[in-house]
Amino acid sequence: MNSQSLFYKTFGRNYMCGCGHMAKQKTLFIINKCRGVYTLDKSRDYCPQCWRKAAIKCAWCGEIILPGEPITLYTPREGVTVPEYAVVYKEAPLQLVGCLRWDCADTGASRAGFWVMPGKVQRVASPLEMLIAGVPSGSSEAIVVNDISDPSETIPIDD
Ligand SMILES: [Zn+2]
Ligand SMILES: [Zn+2]
Repeated sequence: MNSQSLFYKTFGRNYMCGCGHMAKQKTLFIINKCRGVYTLDKSRDYCPQCWRKAAIKCAWCGEIILPGEPITLYTPREGVTVPEYAVVYKEAPLQLVGCLRWDCADTGASRAGFWVMPGKVQRVASPLEMLIAGVPSGSSEAIVVNDISDPSETIPIDD
C-alpha cells in the first residue's frame, strides 16, 4: 500500500510527534493521485507516515479511507463475499467500514462515523439519527446539517 503514496517536499522545522517520529509542521503528499497537505495538530500525536499507515480500504470499492474521513457501516447482503481487506466494525450483525464516495454510500445520511487515528471508528450520529434523537418531542426546532464531512458539526456518540 505504501508504494501508492508519495510524501515529498516537506518544509519547516522538525517536530517530535507523540508516535516517536519526527515530522514537519506541514507535509505535502500524493495518495492515489490526490494531493493534500498533512498538517500536525496542536498535540502532534501522529506523524504523516503513521497517519498514512492507519489508512484502510473500503469494504465495498477497495478505495483508500484515510484517518479523518467519514465512513459508513453497512451490513453486507447475504451471499456477498467480504474481501480480505475489509475492516469489520461489528461481528453480529456484521458491519463493515466503507467509504462515503458516490458509488458506495446511498446518501449522505449513511454516514455512521469517521475513521480516526490510530485506526478506529469514531461513531457519530448520522444526520438521520440526529433528527430522531436531537429534537425534543413537541419542539418545532429543526436541525440543519451543513456539511456532513465536517467532524466539528457532528455529535460524538459512545458505542
Ligand atoms: Zn509516526
Ligand atoms: Zn467505497
